[in-house]
Amino acid sequence: MNWKQTVSSDNDYIFRYRIDEANNKEGGKCNSRLDLVKKHLQSILDIVIPCSGDSEIRIDGFKLMNDRSLIHGLYDQDNESAASSGRKILESPLFREAMRESGGGERNGQGSSFRSIKNAALYEPTVEYIQRLLQGLLDLVELESHGKIVKVDAFRLKDLSQWVEESSCDPADMLGYLATRCNCNCVFCYNKGCPPSLALTNPSKSPDEEFREVQTRLKYFYPEKKKNLFTSLGSSFEAFIHPHFREVLQEVRKKSDKLIRITTNGSTLTEEMIDYLLGFNPLHLDVALHSSSTHRRQRLMHDKTPEIAIKSLPLLRKAGIPYNIVIVPWPDGSPEEMLDDMEKTIDYADENDAHLVEISLPGYSKYFSERELFDHDFTWEAIARKVKDIRYKYQVPIVIRPAMYEERLFCNQKNLPEVIGIVKGSPGSDSSLQPGDILTKIGSNVIHNRPQARTLLSILQKNEIESVAIEVLRKGRTLDLLLNLNKTSYPYSRDIDTHLGIIFMGTGLRGGYLESLEYLIEKKGAKNILFLTSILIKPLLEKVMLESPFFRGRAIDIKVAVPPNRFLGGNICMGDLLVVQDYIDYIKDYINSTDVKPDLVVIPSSPFNLSGWGRDLTGRVYMDIERETEVPVEILECQTIYD
Ligand code: SF4
Repeated sequence: MNWKQTVSSDNDYIFRYRIDEANNKEGGKCNSRLDLVKKHLQSILDIVIPCSGDSEIRIDGFKLMNDRSLIHGLYDQDNESAASSGRKILESPLFREAMRESGGGERNGQGSSFRSIKNAALYEPTVEYIQRLLQGLLDLVELESHGKIVKVDAFRLKDLSQWVEESSCDPADMLGYLATRCNCNCVFCYNKGCPPSLALTNPSKSPDEEFREVQTRLKYFYPEKKKNLFTSLGSSFEAFIHPHFREVLQEVRKKSDKLIRITTNGSTLTEEMIDYLLGFNPLHLDVALHSSSTHRRQRLMHDKTPEIAIKSLPLLRKAGIPYNIVIVPWPDGSPEEMLDDMEKTIDYADENDAHLVEISLPGYSKYFSERELFDHDFTWEAIARKVKDIRYKYQVPIVIRPAMYEERLFCNQKNLPEVIGIVKGSPGSDSSLQPGDILTKIGSNVIHNRPQARTLLSILQKNEIESVAIEVLRKGRTLDLLLNLNKTSYPYSRDIDTHLGIIFMGTGLRGGYLESLEYLIEKKGAKNILFLTSILIKPLLEKVMLESPFFRGRAIDIKVAVPPNRFLGGNICMGDLLVVQDYIDYIKDYINSTDVKPDLVVIPSSPFNLSGWGRDLTGRVYMDIERETEVPVEILECQTIYD
């Protein structure tokens, strides 16, 4: 028997240690999660010397991944204040504009289910960290209570006020916790195609237990302080059918007067429900109507009472509740039938003053279907062409998601500040602005591209000014127009519209991203760069790089490449849905097939933007890409590009 096979016997001497505050390095308790990280790092650094290559590194501080503007000192005298304030630094031009909410958990009451660690790893990695720490400790020690060994198999968060952190406090999130079931069964429901390793979901609970969780979350929901318990969202079914929907809506409205935006399949939007909702304005609904035909809606969604959703449009208009219409043109029946139904549904939405129509191009993962369900290129192009042909017939703006697909297909000139729609009742609609106009000036600012136009318009939207002069190019002629910012009506709403009701073909690519890329390349002194993006962004990116003086005439080899989405498979082509393993696989394949090892890999941050903690959809941290491929990886800070 070797030492590894030896098992302890009752006769062994027992090395007993008390769990005592006095034994703590700092001689005090952990007062926050930050303290816990700090004390753990201090303990590790008492045992190991971190190295980079052959060099030893002295570590005296750390940053949390969800806020890189703060360095937390490891050995400050005044730990309390150092932990709470940190040192503010201007790290680089890539500095994050804003972080999404993070932090927090739920104290399990009697009969509470266990929560998903994967989900916590995505939204509050400290919980996963505690789990690993406890697992490690329990591998080495046994815990005692009054001289007896106690077996520990779970932990719970102790004082929830310690888990409250910065948050945008979107009231809709509270209703999102109720969206755990659906009364329809759409043939294309994306929930059926979720991989088991997705970090977004929590184990299912009873409606009453969900209600108890939301009640607790509401207790720690402080919109005026912009603080909240950490989120654990993920379900995207139908909130309206939850038995506690009305109670939660009432409580949410008591706590926040902000706009509540709810996505619904419309099946519960009876006259009575819409009357009830009127008491909770400002509201905005995204109605997944999919079809205005009772027969087709029944066929596609298995909605038992399709007429309720269809009839809800005039009722919403009458009640003054703005709504968007969502259509997934699913290739069911002939392509002609699908396109004809899409047009009729847009027609109906336009007739009933919808705020906007969103055409969501049909997608599915390999978990939804292993076999090809339809000709992807043919179907997407047919839908986009139809939308392009009919768009200007209607007053309601029609957008395609992902918008970049349409731009890639039809627009030779990328990033153009071209108006593709104007929300009825908006400042844009009152100004004789027309779809097809290209914005050339806003106020005295000359407009060069779409992101610039959007930024200026959203600044104006938040301002109290009464009017602004704009200049547009229409069929080769320059026109001067005036936007009256105060003369607005239904369905425009200052709460939901961000660009004065002017709709563009997606976000476009910000010039700032290219500057950030240049900064990263210079910082690393890289000469051979692999930039990983999506098939939708690649043409636009290559074009702006070609035009950039930074890349012209330089001894820099930059290759823009598209890793396939093996994780989700199917016809998924959005870069934001790539996961860490997709990047690792692609980089390894690239090195093997080209025999070239890049000296820098750059990846846009959008696949890791979910929680601010740099995690992908599976809860895995992006740093694993560099660890596994041994190629330096930099993240290019950017917002989710399509909208
Ligand atoms: S309405 Fe939405 S959640 Fe419900 S089955 Fe259809 S796609 Fe899925």
